[in-house]
Amino acid sequence: MNTQLLQTPIDYLKGVGPNRADLLRKELGIHTFQDLINLFPNRYIDRTRYYKINQIQQSNAEIQVIGVIKSFREVAQKRGKRLVATFQDDTGTMELVWFRGQKWIRDNLKLNTPYVVFGKTNWFNGKFSMPHPDIETTEEHKKGLSSGIQPIYPSTEKLSNKGISNRIVGKIIQNLFLETKGNFTETLSENLISELQLLSKKEALLNIHFPKKQELLSKAQMRLKFEELFFIQLQLILKNLIHKSKIKGHMFDKVGTYFNTFFEAHLPFDLTNAQKRVLKEIRSDLGSNAQMNRLLQGDVGSGKTIVGFMSMLMALDNGFQACLMAPTEILSVQHYNGLSKWCKILNINIKILTGSTKTSIRREIHSSLENGNLQILIGTHALLEDKVKFKNLGLAIIDEQHRFGVAQRKKLWDKNTAPPHILVMTATPIPRTLAMSVYGDLDISIIDELPPGRQAIKTVHRFDKNRLNVFKFIRDEIEKGRQVYVVYPLIKESEKMDYKDLMDGYESISRDFPLPDYQISIVHGKMKPADKDYEMQRFAKGETQIMVATTVIEVGVNVPNASVMIIESAERFGLSQLHQLRGRVGRGAEQSYCILMTSYKLSNDSKTRLETMVKTNDGFEIAEVDLKLRGPGDIMGTQQSGVLNLRIADIIKDKDVLQLARHYAKKILKEDPSLSKDQNLNILNTYRALSKYKNIWNYIS
Ligand code: ADP
Ligand code: MG
Repeated sequence: MNTQLLQTPIDYLKGVGPNRADLLRKELGIHTFQDLINLFPNRYIDRTRYYKINQIQQSNAEIQVIGVIKSFREVAQKRGKRLVATFQDDTGTMELVWFRGQKWIRDNLKLNTPYVVFGKTNWFNGKFSMPHPDIETTEEHKKGLSSGIQPIYPSTEKLSNKGISNRIVGKIIQNLFLETKGNFTETLSENLISELQLLSKKEALLNIHFPKKQELLSKAQMRLKFEELFFIQLQLILKNLIHKSKIKGHMFDKVGTYFNTFFEAHLPFDLTNAQKRVLKEIRSDLGSNAQMNRLLQGDVGSGKTIVGFMSMLMALDNGFQACLMAPTEILSVQHYNGLSKWCKILNINIKILTGSTKTSIRREIHSSLENGNLQILIGTHALLEDKVKFKNLGLAIIDEQHRFGVAQRKKLWDKNTAPPHILVMTATPIPRTLAMSVYGDLDISIIDELPPGRQAIKTVHRFDKNRLNVFKFIRDEIEKGRQVYVVYPLIKESEKMDYKDLMDGYESISRDFPLPDYQISIVHGKMKPADKDYEMQRFAKGETQIMVATTVIEVGVNVPNASVMIIESAERFGLSQLHQLRGRVGRGAEQSYCILMTSYKLSNDSKTRLETMVKTNDGFEIAEVDLKLRGPGDIMGTQQSGVLNLRIADIIKDKDVLQLARHYAKKILKEDPSLSKDQNLNILNTYRALSKYKNIWNYIS
């Protein structure tokens, strides 16, 4: 069909006046015929099936039952009364209940007459009951519309208040099919359709809105999910290809003295195979003339830093500068301290720049960056300031990327005439499927192996009343020469209370672990950076045994002698945060422990989070659970959620379809990179239309 027709504003559709059009626009973002066609039902009610009363289960959603009303009775309750009918079929009895409109029911419903009742059932007082059922006589039911599989469309409170019920939406969509004769243009190629045995676009749309059979509905869903994911993947992959061919990067054609000297003479340990593999991947990017855009994923403690450092050496060997940006001051300092040791041996000029760098030093850094004397710069967001100008930045590394947005990546880019290579390192494992759909434009490397000799951290969950035992445990560990973190939540909304908890906790620990036998550090966000740093350093040097802190220590901090992580009010943390925090221990050779402290009151989600932490140390497994609990939008933040704003597919549940879609998108682009072959014409046209009507296909960013 002519795409023009599909762009018609919905105001012009039969059954949609200006008022309804306005509501549909505001409430559901439906502007055109096309938007309406793509308003897919959230779920379906199967009214092809009739339940017997003895088949009803507590887990049932809406069901329908045929039977007769045997009697009515009124039951007094706190306010007013409810009307209860005993409803019976040949297998048993259940109850129908009304809290309102009781007179009408009494006047109109007859005893011992067959009715079809439809609704959600509750288990109440040892019986199933159905409050306010849809009720029809069997004759009405046979004549009526309410048979078959009924779609339930997305709605809002406002829509239903203004009388745009599910039934009305269904009607409007029906009008749309009449108006357009249901003749929708195919968007996929014949090849794809026959190879995957998909429904045609026409059939799929018809069956998604007016399913005749469960089987056809499933096929329609499959076809539309595939299509949705396919075009997203196509776009991401194309973007990546275009990027690679257009954007020339600096070519680092040699591996030189810095790298070789470090590798041959100063490597502090053998690299793991995963580290070696990733270095090779990076090396091959840097040695080609395309600009690298690589995401390096590796669980906490997997050793990303040294990979980053050795990549920097490749840049330096080719006469370029490199920088490493970290999300916090503490983390920058730690990277700086760690890397400085190696730089000193190699005679490399390295500096650190953060918000608290003094003006005089800042000026020095600015000028030595511009004249090229400064080779490596470590720092926080301060690196993004306009005054920071490199002579020739060859590689920018971003650590713990989930705190930096795409905009910041771009800003680093703009720091140079030719963009630097970019390596984003993250310890927040993003499930592969999610990474694929969100970061399809980045290449991904994974360190999936921990350095040898690490012992799995033992994790337990304890209630607050076990605190004495926990304290005894801490004492024993300190006795053995270990150090301990105690972490408190700090959530913006309840900041005041959280600080109070932190200070109360600090006092109580100070009482139980008194001077001079015990030294305690405290670090929180309200302290001056210099004081924080001082306390961190004391702990890192082993001068204090206990570090009481808020989540400022969440990312990256490395004190190998610390073997116990106590997380207070653990139920208030998200999974990835818990996993990050736990990753602060288990960095040395000793057995490490993580103790999750909570009160008794726990929500189901909290319980799942705690159980997951106790059960596994595997960051990817944890990320999968997290994804299930929170949904993708939350995890990736609002910036990327546009990509995830899917109409019909669900990247968790439809993982397999996603994989399939990605596979075929790749395959087609490999055979026909410009989509110019005849057989791909439908795909090309759709792709073009998608780019043109961005507002409609809002999932493509
Ligand atoms: P992360 O990936 O969390 O950033 P780090 O780079 O901080 O991890 O490394 C964690 C610790 O493991 C550091 O003390 C580091 O020196 C050490 N490490 C890294 N790679 C290896 C290795 N191949 N063998 C032994 N220790 C290693
Ligand atoms: Mg790190």
